[in-house]
Amino acid sequence: MKLISACLLGINCRWDKKHNKNDKALELLYNEILIPVCPEQLGGLNTPRARQEIQGGNGKDVLERKSKVINENGEDVTEQFINGAEETLRIAKLFQAREFIGKSHSPSCSCEKIYDGTFSGKLIDGYGVTTELLKRNGIKIIREENL
Ligand code: SF4
Repeated sequence: MKLISACLLGINCRWDKKHNKNDKALELLYNEILIPVCPEQLGGLNTPRARQEIQGGNGKDVLERKSKVINENGEDVTEQFINGAEETLRIAKLFQAREFIGKSHSPSCSCEKIYDGTFSGKLIDGYGVTTELLKRNGIKIIREENL
């Protein structure tokens, strides 16, 4: 049993109400159960919503209250991101999921690389807020490119 970023399965939960369908993720459904989650929606954010990026840090810094998540309108959505991460972890525990397939570059769902907070497309090292919390709780994070 694995959790997966819902947008990878074609669910229109992305900030612009579109998806990031990944055909390899869909193929996995022939053989296993994938539980779709969207941490940003679970945290209480609307769809569509303004783009958001972590400012001056990564998911680890957000969980440790050293960085904030700010949207393109300058609004602080840090609490919604942390709430979404905690709700996703709750779902993982309920289903005893040990792995999470994450959307790359997302401030919530990515591992390895995230946007740098300037909304310019530049990437920096780091996990998203949800992937960082899941990793801390022993859940293996799988990059969508590695499917
Ligand atoms: Fe996809 Fe995760 Fe962003 Fe939701 S929070 S749209 S699941 S990348």
